[in-house]
Amino acid sequence: MRVAVVGAGIAGLSTAWSLNKRGHEVTLFEQAAGIPNPYAASGDQHRIIRRAYGGADGYARTISEAFEAWEELWADLGVRHYAACGVLGISQTEGDEGEDYRQGLDRMGSPYELYDPAEAARRYPFLDPATIRYAYLSPEGGALFPARIAADMVRLLRERGVSIREGVAVTAIEPEAGKLTLADGKAASFDRIVVSAGAWVLKLLPELADALTTYRTAIAYLDPPEDLKAAWEAAPAIVDVGGTVDGYVLPPVDGTELKVGAGVHKRQRQPDEDREPRPGEGEQIRDYFSPPFARIDEYRVKRVASCAYTFTADRKFLSREIGRVTAVSACSGHGYKFGAAVGRRVAAAVENGDQAGLLRWLRAE
Ligand SMILES: Cc1cc2nc3c(=O)[nH]c(=O)nc-3n(C[C@H](O)[C@H](O)[C@H](O)COP(=O)(O)OP(=O)(O)OC[C@H]3O[C@@H](n4cnc5c(N)ncnc54)[C@H](O)[C@@H]3O)c2cc1C
Repeated sequence: MRVAVVGAGIAGLSTAWSLNKRGHEVTLFEQAAGIPNPYAASGDQHRIIRRAYGGADGYARTISEAFEAWEELWADLGVRHYAACGVLGISQTEGDEGEDYRQGLDRMGSPYELYDPAEAARRYPFLDPATIRYAYLSPEGGALFPARIAADMVRLLRERGVSIREGVAVTAIEPEAGKLTLADGKAASFDRIVVSAGAWVLKLLPELADALTTYRTAIAYLDPPEDLKAAWEAAPAIVDVGGTVDGYVLPPVDGTELKVGAGVHKRQRQPDEDREPRPGEGEQIRDYFSPPFARIDEYRVKRVASCAYTFTADRKFLSREIGRVTAVSACSGHGYKFGAAVGRRVAAAVENGDQAGLLRWLRAE
């Protein structure tokens, strides 16, 4: 089949990768001049992959397939863009999200080490032990490196004959005809079209507005105090710092930088709206992390990056078949870790037509 993939985030790149392996003729369109698009959800330095999934047991079960799909990709790329640094959870108050993630690990029978506040602060000296109830380390998981993954996938896909059209936005789709209109006014027709356009998907398929809402958030890159640098370099990823801010942390592993982000910081916006960080925004994001971090004002904000992403109401992933189009939205703030697996599943559904099966899998039912 001749298949077009619209959007070269991790979903689009992985779908192109898998379709190509299945012998299909693939053209991948990306609106940004280079891949990854730094304004897209898959354009960042690192993303967490983890066993801990809180109340979402379906995704906790599916995560084994996600790990396995990355292994297939590393074998094809000849390099692993992954630091298996483990994943830490922290609880500050009874019933907070940090606790929720630990209870999810219990239900799945996934192992972890539990630390009381003093032991947690001994191992992770950036923590203020007076502010936490406990911390726990899940040894499996860590940080994936999206920008490096994207660069190497582009190289691999080109070597394998995928046509990659960078800097070419798709401006309209005729789903029944399988026809795309491009920004230069030209048109192209395909047997099937996969739309994996991330936060921009509603511009192409406004009918998905019944299920998807677009948000803007921002993350801050921090320079820790000198005497805590070594501790941070050896730290695990942090899935949740506890309390009420939905905060997560990526440590400065493998040449990356210390990064913090918080779920409370997202606002409903159009994908290209409000992308310039506001004055003081980095300090605002940083300060969400005290508690549980000690000496927060000694962390210098190096820079802030804004991101756009879509959520469904129940935070499950979405696919929809519209004529010859399969639209995929595997985000809701937690989709990167499934990227390679999503690509394989979407490619299989495009080939065998089992769109209902794809949706069930994406929803982890
Ligand atoms: C701040 C933040 C932190 C996150 N942390 C994690 C995490 O720790 N772990 C995790 O698993 N997930 C995490 N996620 C979620 C994860 O990043 C996303 O689920 C994933 O990157 C989505 O990939 P995607 O390919 O669907 O979309 P995107 O990465 O947004 O890619 C869409 C692409 O389509 C292109 N495009 C759009 N419209 C067009 C068009 N008309 N023509 C051509 N190209 C087009 C865009 O330029 C873009 O490159 C996080 C997300 C954010 C924003």
